[in-house]
Parts: sequence; C-alpha cells; structure tokens
Amino acid sequence: MAPIFNKKIIIAMILALIVIFSVITISYIYFSDNVQLGVSDESNISSVETVSLANSTVGSVEVIKNIGNPNSPKRIAYVVGVHPLEHEVHETLVKILPNVTGLNYCYDIYIINVTQDVGYYGDGLSDFDSPGRQNGQNLAYEYVYPEIINGDYDLAIDVHSHVGSYPYQTLVFSPVKESLSVDYANEIVENCPDIVYYAPDTTTSGPYLTIPLNENGVPAFYFEEYSFASQDVKDAHVLELIHAVDNLKL
Ligand SMILES: [Zn+2]
Repeated sequence: MAPIFNKKIIIAMILALIVIFSVITISYIYFSDNVQLGVSDESNISSVETVSLANSTVGSVEVIKNIGNPNSPKRIAYVVGVHPLEHEVHETLVKILPNVTGLNYCYDIYIINVTQDVGYYGDGLSDFDSPGRQNGQNLAYEYVYPEIINGDYDLAIDVHSHVGSYPYQTLVFSPVKESLSVDYANEIVENCPDIVYYAPDTTTSGPYLTIPLNENGVPAFYFEEYSFASQDVKDAHVLELIHAVDNLKL
C-alpha cells in the first residue's frame, strides 16, 4: 500500500503546486493590467482638454489641447475649418489624430466652425467672393493666429481640401518661399508616397494665417486633400501626414 499512498501524495502535491502557480500568475496579470490601465486612464483624463476660444455671430473657435505626448517639449498646431466647405477632411483629422497612439510630439487642434454663409459647391462665387470662406479666414486671423504666435509652437499645419484646383490631389506647400516650413513640407513628401509638394502662386487664406505665422517665427504649411476622394483614401492620407509630421526633425 505504501507506494500507492506515496503516489497519491505526489499527485496531490503536484496539483497543489499547479493551483498555487496559477493563482500567482493570474493575480500578477490582473494586478499589472490594472496598474497600466490606471496610469494611462489618468494621463488621458488629465491632459487632453477642449477649450472654447470664441463664439461670434459668424461662427465659433475651439481648441483640443495636449493630444499625443503631453510631456514633449515640441508642440505642433493643426488648424481645421478655415474654409467651411472643406469640412470632410477637417472631420477626418479630428477623428483620427486623437486616437493615434505612441506619438512623439504634443498636438493641439484648432477647430473653426463657420455657421454664417457656409455656402455650397457650385454657388458661382469665386474663392475671393465667398462670404463663408471669408468668415473662416477672419476667425482664423482674429482668434487662432494670436494663440499660435503666442503659444510656443514649433510648427503649424493648416488643413484644407480642393475640388481639383491643383494638378495633384494630395499636397503640402508653404506660401512663404525660403522659410523653414518649406524644408518641413519637403521632409513630409520624402516620407509620404501619396503626398507631393506643389505650391500654387497664391492662396486666399494665406494672409490670414500661414503667411503671418511664417513671417513671425512659427513655420506653417498647408495640407490639401482632394475634396472628392473617398473617405478611406482621406483616412489613409491624413494618417500618412500625421505620422510623417510626428517624425519630423524639429
Ligand atoms: Zn481651403
């Protein structure tokens, strides 16, 4: 009987060891997961915030602050909504950027929401005569420009779309030649197979944001997407831009 008795004891001990080991493993996984979740939840809640900058008769301006790495010494501003009809690409950036993980730099998104004279494609007005575009440009100059110029930013990107006005669909460019922003935009192009550098001779919005930013110490370039690209294509191009910007040598 003795050998059977010993066998039972050995089996019982092995089972006991398995149970103890399992409990320790499960506790460790549960505990460390909770610790990690707790830390990331806390940092998200404490850093990202939306601040209202203006509410006027023609529209509003707000900023989503501290997206990405809030501890980075480098801060980059994205601006969307200067031209209200181009809202699909604006919404694409606002949808994607806050959900990209592992970003190197800290990002703020300035959102201009024109509510008066938004207009519609095919209204017959030239870019210079459209009151909705002018309302957005005025809001940009009055409320976004001073925030960026006084906000210790390393770079600003003004996000637009076009209906086929340019010989390329997806492009970046600076309205100010011989500026640091041209170098940054060219570096973006090197790392993005779907984005080209193409600078039109003139833009309607330049004097209200990107030109004075460049002339007063904040490099600023345009990102232009094709308005009628599918949403999947817009998503892919915006994500390409976001990652290339995050890998710029600032
Ligand atoms: Zn535009």
